[in-house]
Amino acid sequence: MQKGSIGVTTENIFPVIKKFLYSDHEIFLRELVSNAVDATQKLKTLAAHGEFNGQLEGLKVNVAIDKEKGTLTVSDNGIGMTADDIDKYINQIAFSGAEEFLNKYKDNANAIIGHFGLGFYSAFMVAKKVEIRSLSYKDGAQAVSWVCDGSPEYEMAEIEKAERGTDIILYIEDEEDKEFLETSRIEALLRKYCKFLPVPVVFGKEQEWKDGKYVDTDRDNVINNIEPLWTRKPTELKDEDYLKFYHDILPGQDDPLFWIHLNVDYPFTLTGILYFPKIRNNIEINKNRIQLYCNQVFVTDSVEGVVPEFLMLLQGVIDSPDIPLNVSRSYLQSDSNVKKIASYITKKVASRLEDIAKNDPKNFEEKWNDIKLFIEYGMLTDEKFCEPAMKFALVEDTEGKFFKLEDYRKLIESAQTDKEGNVVYLYATDKEQQYSYIKAATDKGYSVLLMNGQLDVHFIGMLEQKVEKSRFVRVDADVIDNIIPSADKKEVDLTSLQRTMLTTLFKSQIPAIEKSEFFISFEGLSPESQPIVIVQSEYMRRMKDMAALQPGMSFYGELPDSYNLTLNVNHPVVKRVLEAAESAIGTQVGDLDNELATTNAAIKAINDSKTDGKELDEAQKQQLADNEAKAADLRQKQTAVISDYASTQDCIKQLVDIALLGNGMLKGEALSKFLQRSVSLL
Ligand code: ADP
Repeated sequence: MQKGSIGVTTENIFPVIKKFLYSDHEIFLRELVSNAVDATQKLKTLAAHGEFNGQLEGLKVNVAIDKEKGTLTVSDNGIGMTADDIDKYINQIAFSGAEEFLNKYKDNANAIIGHFGLGFYSAFMVAKKVEIRSLSYKDGAQAVSWVCDGSPEYEMAEIEKAERGTDIILYIEDEEDKEFLETSRIEALLRKYCKFLPVPVVFGKEQEWKDGKYVDTDRDNVINNIEPLWTRKPTELKDEDYLKFYHDILPGQDDPLFWIHLNVDYPFTLTGILYFPKIRNNIEINKNRIQLYCNQVFVTDSVEGVVPEFLMLLQGVIDSPDIPLNVSRSYLQSDSNVKKIASYITKKVASRLEDIAKNDPKNFEEKWNDIKLFIEYGMLTDEKFCEPAMKFALVEDTEGKFFKLEDYRKLIESAQTDKEGNVVYLYATDKEQQYSYIKAATDKGYSVLLMNGQLDVHFIGMLEQKVEKSRFVRVDADVIDNIIPSADKKEVDLTSLQRTMLTTLFKSQIPAIEKSEFFISFEGLSPESQPIVIVQSEYMRRMKDMAALQPGMSFYGELPDSYNLTLNVNHPVVKRVLEAAESAIGTQVGDLDNELATTNAAIKAINDSKTDGKELDEAQKQQLADNEAKAADLRQKQTAVISDYASTQDCIKQLVDIALLGNGMLKGEALSKFLQRSVSLL
């Protein structure tokens, strides 16, 4: 019998392992089963090199619990170990700076285990004592045992063992670790970590229902699928296979929209299948739906850092031995392999989408609304994705037709370029509410996009930056004749008195609407255009939209919505209103206006006398105050005269209400008054 001390520089590694790795105790099983699988795989490698001529059939790993003895055993029929091997691979855990490292990564068991190659020693997280019984594949090898009770001392001895391979026996004594002697717990863990290992992992026997109870059959209960879909050749696989696999790994989901089979050998190794799930209106951020494997061993389902942020919405599996698991997340993101992997995945996703868009445009269009959110999100957050995505991203017009960005621009270019040479993209956010504006635009031969997605506000902003000489304008941002300003815009032919008159006539008849303010403006549109239209400036509306989405911009959010009530002064009805007002109150308003002009002139004269640096004297100050009061009074009188008159004019009220109605803003009492008035006008 050989006795010795495990080569650890720190006095005693085991209490440390046990103490620090509390959160992830369960991964010991993953480590032991992985080692067992590796041992069988090594046998295959040896056979391939002609160094092993024995049986390769029936390689497997067996996991068994003996509740009575309090043991959990992981057995394999792999290469096994000689006494020398154990000495070399198990007894010498050479490392330095252990304490420092352990302190730093105490919450990350993967890091510690990976760093020290402590896979095997993770057994001590749950076991008081661990025994190895092994017979090497080598000709004439002597079977050996190794026992260690958690102190640095171990014992090794020669034993009888008929079968090639290794048994790792864990003696589980602590109350808190007894859960690892429960069949259901172990089965669940095996299913979590070992579901796709490449060698059959057997845990007891399959059971069947017989004579009122479950009994063991003689069939092995194999936990894993040794050839998961991602390891197979895409050319051998059918859609059904991909769908079935999807539902296997993510039960209870709708069918995915598309999938991508990843397969790369250089400069890193990565395989996997990523699915585009069906995401409806809400970003139901179902992150953590990508499982990360390392040579078919499940590692984690938190892939942050490995997969680009926007692709976290995808689902599926990634398998790569090149993702370092033994590091912290922040380090992971700066790892060069991981960076390459992330950008490879981005590229692959983009090119797959481009492919589908090109070869199966109908399918792509049909699914566009389901993937749009995801693609826009990607374009907004990832420059590397944005560039290729500009080629396949679609826009939809209000008639439900889809276009690629480039095609759409060509389509509208000739009709929708403004006098500065910008192509004006018209859009609506609500087909119902903005119906009359959409109709006005399409009647004029313009095309209108539907931009009603959650991210469209941002998306529009991004397109304006990316696409040269482009501008987005919502259909209700101006009257249709002005929405795409051309060089030959006609000036409005009104005197200042007429402007005052019309402004007050209409402004005074707008019902009070909470958090809204109105300005009156004039346009000389064609007599056939609408007499009156309410529009909201693109700029103000966007500011408010942004404010709603971003904290810290509440200033804009608090502002009232300001609208322009635009009068078409060439429309016969508007002309008639003005003429009628002029003949009824024209003289009165004109007189007040003259008086106001005189008063304003007086104010100006007094102010002008200040220019040579002199202060006004008391008398002048008094005069100024008097005149200012008078002007205010005159303005008020003028407004009163016009408003009083306007309030007797159903035609004005009707026009204002029609404009509000066209914008979905006529509600409650104002709406009911409008209806009554309409009836009485009949
Ligand atoms: P790692 O697997 O990261 O090298 P471990 O501590 O898990 O670190 O294992 C150390 C070594 O012990 C392995 O590299 C392998 O050579 C040997 N070993 C562990 N388990 C087995 C086993 N079941 N069969 C054969 N060799 C094994």
